[in-house]
Amino acid sequence: MQIDKEKCTGCEACHPYCTVGAIHSVKKRGGEDLISIIDQDECVECGVCHRANICPTDAIYPVELKWPRSVRGVFSDPLTVHKDTGIAGRGTEEMKTNDVTGRIRRGHAGVAIELGRPGVGTRFKDVDIMAQAVAKAGAAFEPKNPVTFLMVDKATGKIREDILNEKALSAIIECGIEMDKLENLLSVIKATAPKLDTVFSLDLICKVGEKGEIETLPIAQKAGFTPRPNTKNNIGFGRPLAKEE
Ligand code: SF4
Ligand code: SF4
Repeated sequence: MQIDKEKCTGCEACHPYCTVGAIHSVKKRGGEDLISIIDQDECVECGVCHRANICPTDAIYPVELKWPRSVRGVFSDPLTVHKDTGIAGRGTEEMKTNDVTGRIRRGHAGVAIELGRPGVGTRFKDVDIMAQAVAKAGAAFEPKNPVTFLMVDKATGKIREDILNEKALSAIIECGIEMDKLENLLSVIKATAPKLDTVFSLDLICKVGEKGEIETLPIAQKAGFTPRPNTKNNIGFGRPLAKEE
């Protein structure tokens, strides 16, 4: 995203709309008047400032994004459809529709690591650090996930070199693991957290037991995580088409 220097009046109306605080005021060349500029290294190309339509002089304009910068828009702008998954947004649909897809089977856990948040964002070098750590702990990456498409080696989790310094609002690593290896994987995720220059939240998914028990819950607690009781329930959106094996 760019701001037209000739049109900008420096009113700062756009500043609070930036999802990562990338818009700043600077002195106009040769004078004391202020204009706003977008820090191109920090801008995640989410498009919010432009879509908000708040600039009184129409000074904010999008530019065509070329690779590798285009990866910012794919992971930050919810209206951009990922060309490989065909899905708008950063994740895959399977995690929310497991009763239909049956991807996460009994005895297995689905794990999602959501790196970055509005105001913070994430560089892909942090995604790379976490992905390589969980791969070493035996996790298998979800093949249709947008982050998995960026790996040069799905066995090691290595992310392609040319995007490591690119920044996005957030990126979700999705993987699966056998339930008896989950505690170790969670310990590895916890030990990797201080190496990152961003925040992340962790999602754990499993099939609910016959008596309503959630197998992942005590394992997460044992590994030092305090699961929050919030839930997101998709009721009646899909038929339970997946058969128990
Ligand atoms: S809203 Fe428009 S005119 Fe005002 S500071 Fe932002 S870009 Fe400049
Ligand atoms: S596109 Fe998004 S990150 Fe970039 S300046 Fe606009 S609001 Fe900020």
